[in-house]
This record gives sequence, C-alpha cells and structure tokens, in this order.
Amino acid sequence: MQKASQKKIEDSLLGVHGHPSGVRALLDYVRSFCFDYDIRLKFSRTLSVDSGDGVPCNGYFDPEDKVLAVAIRKDISDWFPIFLHEFCHAKQFVDDPKWFFAGCDAEARIFEWAYSRVVVPPKRPIRKYVKLCIDLEKDCEIRTLALVNKFDIASVVPVEEYAKKANAYLFFWRYFYDVRKWYKKGKAPYALEDVWTAMPVDVAIDHMRMPPDIRKVFEAHMVVG
Ligand SMILES: [Zn+2]
Repeated sequence: MQKASQKKIEDSLLGVHGHPSGVRALLDYVRSFCFDYDIRLKFSRTLSVDSGDGVPCNGYFDPEDKVLAVAIRKDISDWFPIFLHEFCHAKQFVDDPKWFFAGCDAEARIFEWAYSRVVVPPKRPIRKYVKLCIDLEKDCEIRTLALVNKFDIASVVPVEEYAKKANAYLFFWRYFYDVRKWYKKGKAPYALEDVWTAMPVDVAIDHMRMPPDIRKVFEAHMVVG
C-alpha cells in the first residue's frame, strides 16, 4: 500500500478536500482493491487518456494489461463517476473474467457487423451480443450506483442524474442495433440533455425493449454516423 504521506499528496492532487469523507474512503477502497488484484491505478493529470487504440477517452479499464486509468484535469464531479464506472468494470473482471471477456468480444463483433463494408450482414445473430453488452454495462452501472450509496457520496455523483445518464447509454446500445451507427464524437447520449433527462431512473430494466417514447427521443436528438 501507499505510504500515508504519499497518499496525502495524491488526495490533494485529486481534489478530494472539501468533499464528503466517503470520497476518500472510496478511494482507499479502490487503492486496496487494485493492490490486492495487481491492477495498476493511473490518475492522469490530463483532459483525456488513451487506452491504446488511439481514441482519447475520459477513463478506461484494460483487462489485458490490468490498468485502471482516469483523466483528472477537470472537476471531481466530472471524473469521479467515470472513475467509479471503470473501477466497477475491474470488479467484474475479477469476479467473472470469462463473462467479462465474452462482453469485450461481443462488443468487437457488434462493431465489426455495424461497420462491415463488404455486404450487409444479417442482423439477427448479432442480437445476443447486443444483449450481452447491455447486460455487462447494466451490471456495471448497478455496481457503481451501489458504491455511491454505500459511501454516501451523492453530492459528488448525483444518483438520479447518474442513473438517467446510464439509461441513456444502455438504451443507445439497443438503438445502435437498429440504426447500425454509433453516435458522433461529442454526441454521447449521456452528454445530450434532451436525451438523458427523458430517461427513467430505474436502471434494472430490460433495455432490449425500447419504449416508443424513448425511441422518439433518440430519433429526434441523436447524431449518429
Ligand atoms: Zn462501461
């Protein structure tokens, strides 16, 4: 584990002061989890990080190299939810690596199908991969919300807003299956207020069944391509 003085410096860099003690307690929990399972924890003082595919993102968990990384050059309320989400992917990986890797494989197959330029491949066999992806992400969101509640940090990660944004992302996977196009850069469903505010609060629902009113919201506001 880190020395106390080192941890103090890191806590100040992370900007946890002035936030509920649960934030620090949760960081300690993540640090000790990563130590126990030999996962490298990287807090990057940048606006984005690169998981290796050249596409900048806010944070990631890499199961091959066992790295949990997050970009922290922003307000804690912006990076902390991402950090928790990616940490919960690390927990999934530790709990059930087979399932976790099946989800990663499913994601790759869906994108291959969606962006295949040769022929239009059949849609039906892809359905089970979409469901697997949604199940993995849904489980991750439920774990994230459980941590927010357990450590009592709703002032940093507002529960209702987080749940609605999670549903926007989960329903987008279903929508993606129909339109075969991912959202444009900077147009993530959880970043579009018109989209995420229209979502339900309960995350434990069947996202493969997209209610017509939610589909209408996606059709009106999503920018895909
Ligand atoms: Zn995820």
